[in-house]
Order: sequence, then C-alpha cells, then structure tokens
Amino acid sequence: MSNLTFLRRPPFCPNPDCDSRTDPTTWRFQRKGFYPRSQPPHRIQRYRCSQCGRYFSSQTFATTYWLKRPRLLELVFHRLVACSALRQIAREHRVSHSTIRTLSDRLGRHCLLFHERLRPKSTPTEPLVLDGFRTFEHSQYWPMDVNLVVGPSLFVYGFNDVELRRSGTMRPAQRMRRAVLERRFGRPDPDATRKRVEALLRRVIPSRGEVVLRSDEHPAYVRAIARLRDRTILHEQTSSKAARTTRNPLFPVNLSDLLIRHSSANHKRETIAFSKRRQSALYRLAVWGCGATT
Ligand SMILES: [Zn+2]
Repeated sequence: MSNLTFLRRPPFCPNPDCDSRTDPTTWRFQRKGFYPRSQPPHRIQRYRCSQCGRYFSSQTFATTYWLKRPRLLELVFHRLVACSALRQIAREHRVSHSTIRTLSDRLGRHCLLFHERLRPKSTPTEPLVLDGFRTFEHSQYWPMDVNLVVGPSLFVYGFNDVELRRSGTMRPAQRMRRAVLERRFGRPDPDATRKRVEALLRRVIPSRGEVVLRSDEHPAYVRAIARLRDRTILHEQTSSKAARTTRNPLFPVNLSDLLIRHSSANHKRETIAFSKRRQSALYRLAVWGCGATT
C-alpha cells in the first residue's frame, strides 16, 4: 500500500474539466508551499495547476486522502486478511464498525486499481484455473458465486460475481419466502453464470490469445467458452467429485477457495460476519487478492 505523499511530482491535474486531462504530456504545475497537519507527515506539499489554476496537494493522490486517522488504513488492511470481523477490528482501534467498513471499501477500490496495474495485459503464460466460489449477500436467499481465475502460481488473474437463485432443500415457508422476494425484486437470470464467465474470460485472455483453461464440468463454462471464438482456449475439465489433493488439476483454485474462507471473516461458514452487500464482499475479495496471496 503505497502512500503517494512522497511522490516527486503529481501525476495529473485532479480537476476533471482541466484541458491538461486530454493531453497530459504538456502539463505544468507549480509548487505552492506547504500546509501543516496534526498527523505525520506533518508538512504537506501544495501545488497549483498552471493550466486551470486549481490548487491541490500531494494528499489528493494519496490512499489516505481526507482520512482523520491515516495510519489505520494499513493496520485495517492486515486485519481484513487475518479473518477479523469489522466489529472486532473496530474494538481494537476504538472506532465505529462503520469506519472500518468504509476503510475496507476504500482499500478494496485501491486494491482493484493496484491489481489492474499489475495484471499481465498479454496472454497469461501459465494454465488458468476457473471455478465459482459459492457465498451469499445479505441472507441465504441471495446466494452468489464469485468466479475466480487463478494460475498455478496462485496469482489471481481476475474475478467477478454472479447472482444465483436460492436452490437446495427448503421448508415450505422458505419456498414461500423465496417466491415473495422474487415477486418483489425479480428472479436472478438463469443464464447469469454463462454471461459473467464469458465477460471474465474476455477480460483475462486478450483477443487472439491461446491458453489452457482448467475447470470443473459446469455446463455454463462450455457455453461461455464457445462464444469466445477469437481466442484459442484448450478446455480441460475435471470432475468436482475428484479428490481435492495437490495432484488435482484444479488445485490452485481449490486452494484459493480454502484461503478465502481461512482469511476472510465474511466467508467463514455459519458466521454472522457475512457480507451484507455484494459490493463490500467484492471489495474485500480484492483486498484478499492483494494481501493474503502475497
Ligand atoms: Zn488543471
């Protein structure tokens, strides 16, 4: 987690309407002194855009922008991948649990950007392993899969979410409740897995790329791959009933699933720390991708 306070030069003008945003190569700025603050570093460099005149500072580009307790950010990052729940972290640092939640979301957004910067933009050189990690948001009536694409190196190439319909055995009252909820909020798209896996593979594998992709025998994966005609994907399937040992071709993704549950309080089984919102679950997964696998 790099705090950009010590950057030698700001990367661009933060004013979205500034002319320099269309052509950043000729951008000029002036140093305009410092302002003091109570948290270290106590002197913050100020700047002025020579083009639009907007004032800003090195904090404008920092992960700790506008935070009253900037040091919490790194401490919370480590706690989030150490299986602490939000209230436990909050108690340790004597803040509200909602403060930890907003820090978790902020970290997630930065981790997504950081991951996007590191992710290879060319065809991955190792086989890819794809699987859906089953979890839920808000309540068991809103199950979802997180599609994960990882390599044997355990690098997470990408992930996204899929809405699912609650399935499995249900009591009559639960079945009725599901019907009520579906009438009110709509029924999840039955083709969602195919659509989301297709989108994920399109992002991870560039056009005309050639890869070996390993997965279980989920029929939606086959349909998703069939639509990616401009990519050469050698699809190797393994039954999900095969022993989940290190020799299993799906081992990288099986291990990732295990580590997600081991490292993230919101994905533990039978927990009250489950994610209440899907967005927060995805942000937290991005933190896991940058923190627990490195
Ligand atoms: Zn400007």
